Amino acid sequence: MIIFQQLSKRYSNGGALVLDKLSLHIKAGQFVFLTGPSGAGKTTFLRLLYGAELPSQGTLKVGGASLGGLSPRKIPQLRRKLGIIFQDFRLVSGRTILENVAWPLHLAGSSTRQAGQAAWQMLAKVGLQDKAGSLARDLSGGEQQRVAVARALVTRPPLLLADEPTGNLDPENAREVMSLLLEAHGQGATVLVATHDPLLLGLVQGARRLRLEAGGLIEEWS
Ligand code: ADP
Repeated sequence: MIIFQQLSKRYSNGGALVLDKLSLHIKAGQFVFLTGPSGAGKTTFLRLLYGAELPSQGTLKVGGASLGGLSPRKIPQLRRKLGIIFQDFRLVSGRTILENVAWPLHLAGSSTRQAGQAAWQMLAKVGLQDKAGSLARDLSGGEQQRVAVARALVTRPPLLLADEPTGNLDPENAREVMSLLLEAHGQGATVLVATHDPLLLGLVQGARRLRLEAGGLIEEWS
């Protein structure tokens, strides 16, 4: 599903190496935690995976597509196969949460009716059906994060990327978000969660743990 080969990343010529010759294989169906202190490069790692950054050296393949050589035109196509959950939610604040969750389905070509129905069901799953008509900006942080998770899951993507998905949540909401990710994993998705919160790691039995430190990756065994 994901292959890094001797991948290095620096943001500017002569700048510090954020990732230093990483090689890694994440197989389809794995649940992976990416840990490491703030500034270690976790967000950079994820941004490379969804084509928001390009490697400085080495190669990266996601689901068979080589990102180094991917033309900018193909990036949206790649992103449609991904579910991405951002720490700061990135909802469209002036739209209803139903519209927010239906949006990826519209992009993928569903009719308004189909997209609305699927979004409605997804909102039920995250416990927000009664707020379907509310504007995203009127929801609490925990509710907005659940909408963001619903939006990421609604297309049933084979690969889910989450950057500190529980960073702004209380423990109860954090557990709820993790259980939604686990459910998607149970249905076959590959899941990659970047976090510096050690409490999350205890919530997923058997997950793979990768730690970023000084530009390198360390496999940790629980
Ligand atoms: P983490 O997610 O683990 O906190 P990041 O990937 O955000 O780490 O950052 C890793 C390093 O890269 C940090 O030193 C950060 O300052 C630097 N960095 C991140 N984004 C940029 C950017 N757009 N331009 C320059 N440096 C950046």
